[in-house]
Amino acid sequence: MRLSRYYVPTLKENPAEADVVSHRLLVRAGMIRKLTSGIYTFLPLGLRALDKTARIVREEMNRAGAMEVLMPMVQPADLWQESGRWSEYGRELLRLQDRHSRDYCLGPTHEEVITDLIRHEIRSYRQLPVNLYQVQTKFRDEIRPRFGLMRCREFIMKDAYSFDRDQDGLDLSYRSMFDAYTRIFQRLGLTFRAVEADSGPIGGSVSSEFMVLAETGEDVVVSCTACGFAANLEKAEVRSPAEQPGISCPQPEIVDTPGAHTVKDLAAQLDISPDQVVKTMLFAADGEPVAALIPGDRELNDVKLKNFLRATELELATAEQIREWTGAPVGFAGPVGLQIKTVVADRLLTQGTDWVTGANQADAHYLHVDLDRDARVAHYTDLVNIRPDDPCPECGKELQFNKGIEVGHVFKLGTKYSRSLQATFLDEQGTEQYMHMGCYGIGVSRIVAACIEQNHDQDGIIFPPPVSPFEAMVLALNAKNEKVMATAEDITAQLEGLGLDVLLDDREERPGFKFKDADLLGFPLQILVGAKGIDKGVVEVKDRRTGERQELPLDDFTAGFRAWRQEVWAGWGLEQKTDD
Ligand code: ATP
Ligand code: MG
Repeated sequence: MRLSRYYVPTLKENPAEADVVSHRLLVRAGMIRKLTSGIYTFLPLGLRALDKTARIVREEMNRAGAMEVLMPMVQPADLWQESGRWSEYGRELLRLQDRHSRDYCLGPTHEEVITDLIRHEIRSYRQLPVNLYQVQTKFRDEIRPRFGLMRCREFIMKDAYSFDRDQDGLDLSYRSMFDAYTRIFQRLGLTFRAVEADSGPIGGSVSSEFMVLAETGEDVVVSCTACGFAANLEKAEVRSPAEQPGISCPQPEIVDTPGAHTVKDLAAQLDISPDQVVKTMLFAADGEPVAALIPGDRELNDVKLKNFLRATELELATAEQIREWTGAPVGFAGPVGLQIKTVVADRLLTQGTDWVTGANQADAHYLHVDLDRDARVAHYTDLVNIRPDDPCPECGKELQFNKGIEVGHVFKLGTKYSRSLQATFLDEQGTEQYMHMGCYGIGVSRIVAACIEQNHDQDGIIFPPPVSPFEAMVLALNAKNEKVMATAEDITAQLEGLGLDVLLDDREERPGFKFKDADLLGFPLQILVGAKGIDKGVVEVKDRRTGERQELPLDDFTAGFRAWRQEVWAGWGLEQKTDD
């Protein structure tokens, strides 16, 4: 393929609205263009990267026994009403009507459609297990689409759904998908972690997320430096505190704390440390008031709170609600004498006593609060974010924190959808049973962005070889020179003969200009064909990742190239399959 005839509209300037590097580079390298907020067109190079990613995903899904299908994107509302999600899914679900005023949505995910399909197809245990997947456009009306391909409204997902007779079957299907995902991200050349993830409030379900480690990730990955523990911050439990002998605590006493709305102000005024304070946070959980008590030096984890309460919506109370529920302005709520039924406390608070808390009066706090004696705490549970100085919840050793981009999610659904949509089969005894389901998603378009977030430098993209739109770029450094062009064309043909995707930069531009574009586009292998080298009987090759250059002899170029290519792949931790 010749670059002079290939559509690669590179830009010199960074797009103003792009906050993250993958967004900037995908636009600058002419790979994507925005149509409107969170909705992008893939240009030829971008599409090639997407297709290469999807190909690896498909190969590993097929290898794991999943079968590809293609489901509709437009889904009827009645199916979503049947599952209960028409009302639960909220505003990310884009709803529309046809000419007969019938309601539909654009599929953000396909549990309803696949379960509907299967319930009409499968009758007997003999037909199970089955695992179907698709690679398809999803639509989620994200509240804040951003970061280019990382958080779109329209994006490409691979979603798979498994149906089994029982829990043991589901465990096997889940394991096989987990292993397939591990192979996929290894083959893509990405540095990733599989972590325990939050599964929402559905008790007992299991899920893992696959995270590509990158500074710009929106998720925090917590892992242990000693054992195998790894979890999403949302999920990672803070180790349960050891039982402490009762400490005696004087009776509560009110003190003036003018203007001390925050723990920091309060600690400064009273000359205490924040961990002596109990912070009282008020929420509306599905409209009902809830108080959450946490240590003053900790952050509340609202996912943990929401799951504990089994709430669909959890919102921080407004200033008016706080005044109505506590009689005090924001910043002075406390558990003593609080007129709220549901008071839950972080279990670290079982560890001490003699707390400082709000007094439910403006500009006042209590000293010497014993939660068991002076307040009505309904439950103690894990409510706060784990911190780097906490011990590993499993082995007690040191933790490590990384930022991550969620690229995949595997999930045991159990019988949630088979119950609501009545997907049953007859077992060996002829008894009707619910199918056990799993669902498994991969953000195919997000992976392209994640590759770049993890692999780039100041000059541009550094594509892992398996994802790169073309594996190699041949640069004819002086395209007007016939000898140079002829050699560049010959090398291109040789590489294509080896089964590589090659883009030949045959444009009549200065070498410096071509080097810049080649680095921006980020194909892993660069072959620099110049007149001087040809006279010496060599061409220079450059590994985009390391920047290392070396000369390969022109006679028997293929042999030298193969060895070098293998080295470059090995640098990515990848094995080069000769005809891959
Ligand atoms: P997130 O927490 O990032 O919103 P999610 O948990 O809602 O994602 P899933 O429902 O598990 O996502 O979807 C499966 C995969 O689809 C995710 O792991 C992610 O890679 C991808 N994905 C989800 N939402 C988006 C989006 N808005 N843009 C691009 N990819 C997405
Ligand atoms: Mg997820």
